[in-house]
Amino acid sequence: VKHNLQENFDIIVVGGGHAGIEAVLSIARMGIKVLLLTQKISTIGVLSCNPAIGGIGKSHLVKEIDALGGIMAIAADFSGIQFRILNSTKGVAVQSTRAQVDRMLYRNFIQKTIFKEKNIYIVEAEVNNLIITDNTVIGVQTNDKRSFYSHSVILTTGTFLGGKIYVGLKCYSGGRINDNASINLSNQLKKLPLKIKRLKTGTPPRLDMRTINFETLKKQISDTPLPVFSFIGHQNQHPKQIPCYITYTNRKTHKIIQNNLHYSPIFTGLISGIGPLYCPSIEDKVIRFKEKERHQIFIEPEGINCIQAYPNGISTSLPVNIQEKIIHSIYGFENAKIIQPGYAVEYDFIDPRGLYLTLESKYIKGLYCAGQINGTTGYEEAAAQGIIAGINAGLHTLGKPAWYPKRSQAYLGVLIDDLCMKGTKEPYRMFTARAEHRLVLRENNADLRLTNIANQFNLICRNRWSVFKKKCNAIIKETEKIKNIKIKPNSLLAKNIYDTFGITIKNETNGYKLIKRPEINLNNIYKSDIFFSQTTHLSAFNETIIQIKYSGYINKQNQEIEKQIKYENKTLPTNFNYKKISGLSNEAINKLNYYQPISIGHATRISGITPATISILLIYFKKFDIVNKIHK
Ligand code: FAD
Repeated sequence: VKHNLQENFDIIVVGGGHAGIEAVLSIARMGIKVLLLTQKISTIGVLSCNPAIGGIGKSHLVKEIDALGGIMAIAADFSGIQFRILNSTKGVAVQSTRAQVDRMLYRNFIQKTIFKEKNIYIVEAEVNNLIITDNTVIGVQTNDKRSFYSHSVILTTGTFLGGKIYVGLKCYSGGRINDNASINLSNQLKKLPLKIKRLKTGTPPRLDMRTINFETLKKQISDTPLPVFSFIGHQNQHPKQIPCYITYTNRKTHKIIQNNLHYSPIFTGLISGIGPLYCPSIEDKVIRFKEKERHQIFIEPEGINCIQAYPNGISTSLPVNIQEKIIHSIYGFENAKIIQPGYAVEYDFIDPRGLYLTLESKYIKGLYCAGQINGTTGYEEAAAQGIIAGINAGLHTLGKPAWYPKRSQAYLGVLIDDLCMKGTKEPYRMFTARAEHRLVLRENNADLRLTNIANQFNLICRNRWSVFKKKCNAIIKETEKIKNIKIKPNSLLAKNIYDTFGITIKNETNGYKLIKRPEINLNNIYKSDIFFSQTTHLSAFNETIIQIKYSGYINKQNQEIEKQIKYENKTLPTNFNYKKISGLSNEAINKLNYYQPISIGHATRISGITPATISILLIYFKKFDIVNKIHK
């Protein structure tokens, strides 16, 4: 790694977690000099909690990050020890890839990639202060009293700001187990006009696999064919595949928890921050779902050459001796030894409503925030924001206009729009249900939606571009081929179709019409050599079939998007005082002044902004023609 600390940097990224990683890599690939300042070089790319990437909704983000040239999917391909497609029996829009990964392999892959990038400079230090003049950030100061200057700073400090770790009623300062909290920076941020609140999250105890009785537990292995995460990935990049196992809590476990709630930092009120609604602690689950007799636990190995197992589903912050009792009450864990206790961490986050959709602060110019610092939970959500902040800080450095995806273009757009427009009360997790246009936002077509843009910004390598072009061409060819398949009744082809799919051809038809029939689906279409052969481009073929099969619904959704884009294109002025508009309620004025929506489309998504308010805005801005084309 080349260091020349006398130099100024174009951009500084604070934090080497999942947001920071995607931010520095995207900036470096745009040809910009970036400094990564992080507490410990050895923890760059560490997975703080579960050793897994993807899952429902999250995998869509991973594929989109990948389509923009990011690293998360590739790292998962090189470190994944179990790959599955979740929701595989449901519609294509909600199918999601999930990879169990080897913690060490994942971290090492990330570090190797970052260390190879010549535009990334790395300094191991803790940032204590932002250097701000005239409401503009111009650099940072570190705990070893050094100053670094730049045009932009991206904060990606995760769970570390004012972090407090809880195990039972014991509490100590920490950002994550064995890592210091970031206290000075937290104190400075509180003095700035950023709204800071508290959230919490938790993790389960890690178990010694040698002490678990796997023989009686249900085994879960990778799917066949073995899924691949990255659009430029291959199955042969995956390391050895190993199984996960399933067990359950039981009445005895629940009794132990209920009897010891007075030792819980959450239930005694020691922790005030709100925890993740969709990833609750086992204490939360036992209290919230009293009627449930058992809760599922996935036993996930943390790596191939590793003795640690991650019991997914029993995150807890009860005291260690109670954690032991809980573990020993569970089938298969009767003699299990805890290697590292579970804990909860409470930390500061900034209200993301104070950010533009570029993730730049509305209050401090040049300051971008990305990741868990903005109230999200999860590696994927963090990485997604990291790449958006990185791209925008990079575009700003290059003097180019900002870019952010729309809700109809990507889950990345849904994520930043939800955060910046609605904010969040609990750690925000992505779900497919959050996207109103999810039929057009499939995992499979993330590259078709975003890789062109990534190419314009110089974010991708030549290999990715040629893989992408090949897929685009193959989709055109496959569609033509399918349209040209003509099937006459009583022909050999008709017999083949009857034998394979049970469809009787009564009138002459073609492949395109046939694929729309419910008897043909993505599971059985490969069985027939009418459509598929060994030489067919698999992902282009899948995409072609989806486009044909769902063309009716997709067209309808595209029409809705067109309508909405009209609203999105009706831009609103920045820094506008909505008091000027007569007829608006006080609530509407306050909300519009606070959010400063950039378009009518955005105004419609602010909670409490009614259709009546929108009509008033439309009339006012049409009359006065106050349309500001230049906005963040
Ligand atoms: P992190 O990955 O936290 O990285 C932050 C980085 O910033 C670190 O490298 C740190 O050293 C560095 N840093 C911090 N402050 C400074 C500073 N002042 N100067 C220099 N460097 C600094 N996610 C889920 O989806 N589900 C869960 O159940 C879940 N449970 C979790 C439980 C625990 C105990 C923890 C700690 C995390 C959990 N997560 C969970 C969250 C997941 O780990 C994060 O969402 C993800 O890591 C956030 O990525 P990030 O890049 O924002 O920050």
